[in-house]
Amino acid sequence: MQNSIKIYQEMRKKLNAYYYAMWVMSWDSETELPHGAVDYRSEQIEVLTNEIYALETNKTYLKAIDLLYLNRDKLDDLLKREIEKVEKELRLIKKMPKDEYIDYQVLLSKSSSVWADAKRQNNFEMFSPVLDKIIYYNRKISKYLQTDTLKGYDVLLDIYEEGMTTKVYDAFFQKLRDELVPFVLSSTSGKGPLPRKLSKNRFPAEKQELFNKYLLDVFKYDLNRGVLKTSEHPFTSNFTSDDVRITTKYLENSIESAIFSTIHEMGHGIYEQNVDSKLRNTLLGGGASMGIHESQSRMYENMIGRSYAFWEVHFDKLKEIFQKELKGVTLLDFYHYINRAERSLIRTEADELTYPLHIMVRYEVEKQLISGKLKTKDLPKRWRKLYQEYVGVRPKNDQEGVLQDIHWAGGMFGYFPTYALGSAYAAQIYFAMNKEFNIENAISNNEIYKINDWLKEHVHTFGKSKTPKEIMLFATKESFNPDYYVEYLKRKFSN
Ligand SMILES: [Zn+2]
Repeated sequence: MQNSIKIYQEMRKKLNAYYYAMWVMSWDSETELPHGAVDYRSEQIEVLTNEIYALETNKTYLKAIDLLYLNRDKLDDLLKREIEKVEKELRLIKKMPKDEYIDYQVLLSKSSSVWADAKRQNNFEMFSPVLDKIIYYNRKISKYLQTDTLKGYDVLLDIYEEGMTTKVYDAFFQKLRDELVPFVLSSTSGKGPLPRKLSKNRFPAEKQELFNKYLLDVFKYDLNRGVLKTSEHPFTSNFTSDDVRITTKYLENSIESAIFSTIHEMGHGIYEQNVDSKLRNTLLGGGASMGIHESQSRMYENMIGRSYAFWEVHFDKLKEIFQKELKGVTLLDFYHYINRAERSLIRTEADELTYPLHIMVRYEVEKQLISGKLKTKDLPKRWRKLYQEYVGVRPKNDQEGVLQDIHWAGGMFGYFPTYALGSAYAAQIYFAMNKEFNIENAISNNEIYKINDWLKEHVHTFGKSKTPKEIMLFATKESFNPDYYVEYLKRKFSN
């Protein structure tokens, strides 16, 4: 046993160094890499990828893991949890025949560009055969990974949100269907007129950058262990709590895009920075799950960043920077503008209220595609029907319909529902935190550190050492309950 622990931990350390090198390169590729270096870079990545594969499939290492897994009850809690996670991650490589595994990886390496072409040309037929194969493989994967309790789509859901099943998601989405859909359909009716100063002005990037720097300080995002850069799509990249990097994107025709994407990514980033540093060399560092991660980013972005209390404190600073552009715009104008809700077709541009309905459409079709109830070729038709039913709009073509997201091209089935789940977790966590201190007061007094500290203690510090379920139970004293979310949305958008 002791020997296996030693073998495991030494290999872990080595693999970590390789992963870190790969991680830094991928960050660099997204933010700095000159275009002419793309080919050279990918040659080096290929060499490293092969090295990593050899290490990951090293026989002595795998044997050590097997032995530790068999004796997991004798390990301390953290190591036990870690070994269970490694064993789970390796299960697919072990169970899927090598040629199938490689075929699937090759398929995935090409599918995103097929999807991008199909989207550009608004041609679902082009993407359909590739998508069909990806679905075929996802069904296989769910077979290989199935257990006594997890089967079919549930297996895929569990990959992104440990412990989540169709049973729980069905009840969650049923609640949205019963309560949120009618609310949205009665409280929105397409796009209304917007204040021209906010919607039609040009907002210079340098000024936006100034305000974003100000926001870093407001939220106490730790620049000693993190950076903010720009990239094509905003994202958070993290490897250890000591190195957490976020990006944003400045659009000169939008005053709000960079502000809220920065706050969103800071939510992810603060979470990562707050994970206990004792987990840094284990597999348990980093956020607990996609859903818990998204709950933090969305709480910072929507529940704090889009609150009236927040802008009561910070609107003056915004006006000071955009003196000319925001002349005559009041706090209330701005608050209404950043919280407008409308029926729309594109998920990534959807507002806080209608967003989960976009996810509901995807959840429903994914479930049916994996079970075989829905044929790939019939997907666009079903998509349009469900958009009409849930969001109240019908896409005119597949570019603004079923081809809009990259996820399926990347083989990600079971991922989408975590976005809606994250917002619902956020409402429940917010409610629990608000019982212990008045969150609005903290925001009004510019004391966001109080929120950061509470979340650190109740959610962030655990990394992956607790399951999402355990974290929800610890932080809110009850298991997942979507009521808080629906109530929160209805209250906020009734005004
Ligand atoms: Zn996010």
